[in-house]
Amino acid sequence: MKNKAIVVGSGIVGLATARSLAVRGWEVTVFDRSPEPVGASVRNFGMVWPVGQPTGPLLERALLSRSLWIELLSAAGAWFEETGSLLVLRQPEELRVAEDFVARNRNFRSCALLTPKKALQKAPALKAEGLLGAIWSPTEVIVDPRQAVPALMTWLQEKVLVQFRLGQAVTEVGSGYVKTGGNRMEADLVVVCSGQDFETLFPEEFRKASITRCKLQMLRTEPQPAGWRLGTALCAGLTLTHYASYADCDGLAELKKYYQEHVPDYVRWGIHVMASQMGSGELTLGDSHEYGPGPDPFDKQFINQLILNYLYAFCDFPKRDIRETWHGIYAKMTDGRTEYVSEPEPGVWIINGLGGAGMTLSLGLTEEWAGAL
Ligand SMILES: Cc1cc2nc3c(=O)[nH]c(=O)nc-3n(C[C@H](O)[C@H](O)[C@H](O)COP(=O)(O)OP(=O)(O)OC[C@H]3O[C@@H](n4cnc5c(N)ncnc54)[C@H](O)[C@@H]3O)c2cc1C
Repeated sequence: MKNKAIVVGSGIVGLATARSLAVRGWEVTVFDRSPEPVGASVRNFGMVWPVGQPTGPLLERALLSRSLWIELLSAAGAWFEETGSLLVLRQPEELRVAEDFVARNRNFRSCALLTPKKALQKAPALKAEGLLGAIWSPTEVIVDPRQAVPALMTWLQEKVLVQFRLGQAVTEVGSGYVKTGGNRMEADLVVVCSGQDFETLFPEEFRKASITRCKLQMLRTEPQPAGWRLGTALCAGLTLTHYASYADCDGLAELKKYYQEHVPDYVRWGIHVMASQMGSGELTLGDSHEYGPGPDPFDKQFINQLILNYLYAFCDFPKRDIRETWHGIYAKMTDGRTEYVSEPEPGVWIINGLGGAGMTLSLGLTEEWAGAL
């Protein structure tokens, strides 16, 4: 008889957990309150982004996730692209941080500082004017979250026999069981991967944890003309202040001061600008960061405009028309930790709080966790 596991939540954290358990021989059932994926995992850029992770265990985890994404999406026949990424440099202060990042990482990861000419060859969408160079990293992979999450669910169902109970909210969890309304289901292991829902299950645990919500605004263009490809995922200087991989670089404090003085609105709304292209030709653009327990439900047009203004200062596309705007919310640790993993009751685990790196780290994190069970 196989051991039974129940996973609550079918976002990327829940799906990664289900995969890691099922491939180890567990009989897994996944519950989600929603009949279709609607959480952060289908609202994101789809950037599997190892370059943002600091050298060491987190980079290793990101690279493991990357190889699992490629393996899973190849097996599922779903689109992905190994684009790599360019971080575009337009200020001397940005160049200084970038030079130090590349020098520090020389022996630990493949990345390079490109001249403007080489950067333009990699990404013809870039504007030459004001371009000082770019950090090239070959490790980034783009998935289309709206296809990748359902494809992963199908793979889990068909290849490792995970069962899905969608449209069923789990209302109570304890050692050895979950309840969905009046129904009770027994299991040897329960894993709660409830994303930004801190109130339904284990509210006391979440209240004690240093965890909050973060709201991000996003946009998608109409498909670019047939055959036009961005080539590589793009981001620019503001991104240097966003990811932990740049945190120790020389010149970062001066760069933050420069942004505070010259682009205070971008700092105030946590905006750093990234662009990825989907298989369908659309460009996904974003984003902003508003932190707090109760993010307001309304999107701010001026934030979208700030994102577009910054984007079109460093690159351009044949089709600028915006097809969709939306926001997503993720759970983020406020104490510097990169995830929240705890066992509040014997055999009941919570895995949450991966912040803006859930697509990059989940598949690797749950491999480490399940391997240590
Ligand atoms: C706009 C945006 C852009 C991002 N871009 C990137 C990126 O490019 N790269 C990257 O690595 N990361 C990115 N992230 C972060 C990443 O998307 C998140 O870290 C990740 O999706 C979180 O996954 P999750 O499974 O915890 O949450 P979710 O995807 O929100 O899933 C949680 C699920 O749990 C279900 N649930 C909750 N409570 C219950 C219950 N009681 N019963 C049943 N079901 C329940 C919900 O219905 C939901 O489906 C981005 C996030 C956002 C919002």
